[in-house]
Amino acid sequence: SPHNVNIDSTPELVSGVYTKLKENIAKFRNVTGRPLTLTEKILSGHFNQIDDTNFTGGKDYVFLKPDRVALQDVTGQMVMLQFMQAELKQTALPTTVHCDHLIRAEVQGDVDMKVSLDENSEVFKFLQSASAKYGCGFWKPGAGIIHQVVLENYAFPGGLMIGTDSHTPNAGGLGMIAIGVGGLDAAETMAGLPWELLYPKRIGVKLTGKLTGWTAPKDIILKVAEELTVSGGTNAIVEYFGPGTKSISCTGKATITNMGAEIGATCSVFPYDERMETYLKYTNRSGIAELANQNKESLIADPEVESDPEKFFDRVIEINLSTLEPHIVGPHTPDLARSISELADDVKSNDYVDPISVALIGSCTNSSYEDMSRAASLAEQAKQKGIKAKIPLLVTPGSEQIRGTIERDGQMDSLKDIGATVLANACGPCIGQWNRPELDKDEQNTIVTTFNRNFPGRNDGHRSTLNFIGSPEMIIALSLGGKLSFNPLVDELTAADGTKFKLEPPKPAPEVPEEGFVRPEGIFVAPPENTDDVEVIIDPNSKRLQRLEPFSQWDGKDFEELPIMVKAKGKCTTDHISPAGAWLSLRGHLDNLSDNMLLGAVNAFNDEVGKGKNVLNNQLESFSQIARQYKEKQMRWVIIGDNNYGEGSSREHAAMTPRYLGCAAVITKSLARIHETNLKKQGLLALTFDNPDDYEKILEDDKISLVDLNGLQPGKQVKCIITHNDGNKEEIMLNHSYNQAQIEWFKAGSALNVLRNR
Ligand code: SF4
Repeated sequence: SPHNVNIDSTPELVSGVYTKLKENIAKFRNVTGRPLTLTEKILSGHFNQIDDTNFTGGKDYVFLKPDRVALQDVTGQMVMLQFMQAELKQTALPTTVHCDHLIRAEVQGDVDMKVSLDENSEVFKFLQSASAKYGCGFWKPGAGIIHQVVLENYAFPGGLMIGTDSHTPNAGGLGMIAIGVGGLDAAETMAGLPWELLYPKRIGVKLTGKLTGWTAPKDIILKVAEELTVSGGTNAIVEYFGPGTKSISCTGKATITNMGAEIGATCSVFPYDERMETYLKYTNRSGIAELANQNKESLIADPEVESDPEKFFDRVIEINLSTLEPHIVGPHTPDLARSISELADDVKSNDYVDPISVALIGSCTNSSYEDMSRAASLAEQAKQKGIKAKIPLLVTPGSEQIRGTIERDGQMDSLKDIGATVLANACGPCIGQWNRPELDKDEQNTIVTTFNRNFPGRNDGHRSTLNFIGSPEMIIALSLGGKLSFNPLVDELTAADGTKFKLEPPKPAPEVPEEGFVRPEGIFVAPPENTDDVEVIIDPNSKRLQRLEPFSQWDGKDFEELPIMVKAKGKCTTDHISPAGAWLSLRGHLDNLSDNMLLGAVNAFNDEVGKGKNVLNNQLESFSQIARQYKEKQMRWVIIGDNNYGEGSSREHAAMTPRYLGCAAVITKSLARIHETNLKKQGLLALTFDNPDDYEKILEDDKISLVDLNGLQPGKQVKCIITHNDGNKEEIMLNHSYNQAQIEWFKAGSALNVLRNR
């Protein structure tokens, strides 16, 4: 079958999208009978069908037709394996695969890349061959981080894309609704099925004033995270508006929308403006910029929205950029924020480790030309004074395009002059691929980064590492000060000649290079015209890749007297459920990967991490050890979770490994959006306590029964009977958000089984 999908966001494709946007917006405006926000415009422009139905945010489901799909190398493996299992022929819409997460950060770019290519070669070969077979574009290792490459090449204002990575919303900086999804969502969408989304609520963030001095786009999202907390954006799209938006470059906007994932938002989006036009032009997409200019009305909210936002958003936050101070957030959670002027006191009162061990800049969040230029401007000040960073400084360029450009234009040299080591254009230290042999296992230490996520163990696998996040300029300044309590706005540094000096705020930096970006070659492989002879390469003896077997369908019986694997206490993110780091290498092998199940979860019954009581022998064992024994005896079991269980990434492995090892249901105080969908898709019951206090009723030796499952219906509660060790029973009610189609997933054993059966 000849390859029939154009991988690029061509002007023809974008023009078609704009025609549909225009038509649907007019129709949907009639349905709602009021002006529309930008979110509503883009979503309605991508409705699979448009009739006279209106939708309630956070309640109704909507079917959408995305314009493209992006996969990264870790989650993408499972997408391809699922796509294969469903026996589908070719991707139905533009899809790209990006090799970024599997690249190490140990020595420096070239060296790490060589080692990473060797150790991951079978995965890269599999992804490249599967991309060729199924008509996807393949970005080689070293080409860059998925979100940066998408922003540089594929994102466009008014588009809708999904990606198997939670920071897919990065493309919102270019006015796109871009949403992180689980692998099966991606596989289904690639198969041409409409994609189902819980219609989002709308949060408006009004930006007034203008960024100046030390304050950077990063500080806006850190402030928003402080306001909304890690779950405040759940089931909502955050839409930025107001005059302040124009003071932020396109890549600065992308930093903000990227990190919207940290507040649990479905995604975030900015209205189309001249800054986006500039970025499109400098990234060789003048044709799209022209089309966007012609269709501007569809790419911004209706004017009434800005003049009376409370009427159109569920919640409105206002931030005055002119008075916004630089912020630092952390450790361990991105919503623990304070302004830089409050940080020194906070370090003292919380006894944080003051000396910084390593500073890291870059990643998909903060490695734009503007970011690197502002960082370099501080490095140049330091060089003039004859000083270097007091601690190791690591730089991760987001793409080869950025790396090549800052090498040509001198920013990289400026950073190297103060001691920076440049890592590969890949995720590296952001996703636990960072090896720190110098660090003892439980050694508390402070790192400062420009990344987006700072869960324990995230960066270096050490749960005792405290990660504080800030803007690139602030992290460079902290690297020069060497201490977390250093405030560059007031504190002085000592020059090589012994004199004292204060850093000047970074110079206003160009958002795009005057000479244009360096266009690297040889980093992208387009799919062949004819894919008939292409073979997908999987070694049957591989320890890293395993063809999938379908999960068994529900037997139609209630779940009775199931043991509790874990009662997770506090934060239990997808990193706690299915850790990354060394485990990343097993993301294409479900059986081997399952050994990491719940390894980071804190068990409320004993405060142990990753361990629980095995009811078969009363021993304390790792969760996967216990689950494998239950599985052998065909015993199903449940997980009890706390608030916002499954927050963090879109990794469906956090749903697949429990499912594979026999979990029947996850019962929590509340569930993070993507994880909830992933649980449903893998055929698990995703339930929440009607009364969150019922969490306290559940004891270690209890058994859980879920009854009348044949009567499972949208909106109808599920009855749960807790049988205590002394034989006493308590009845509690559980809520769920399954619609009819999702109930079929549960019955069939998984959403993929429904697709296969079709
Ligand atoms: Fe990679 Fe980190 Fe960005 Fe995720 S957040 S895509 S791990 S750089």
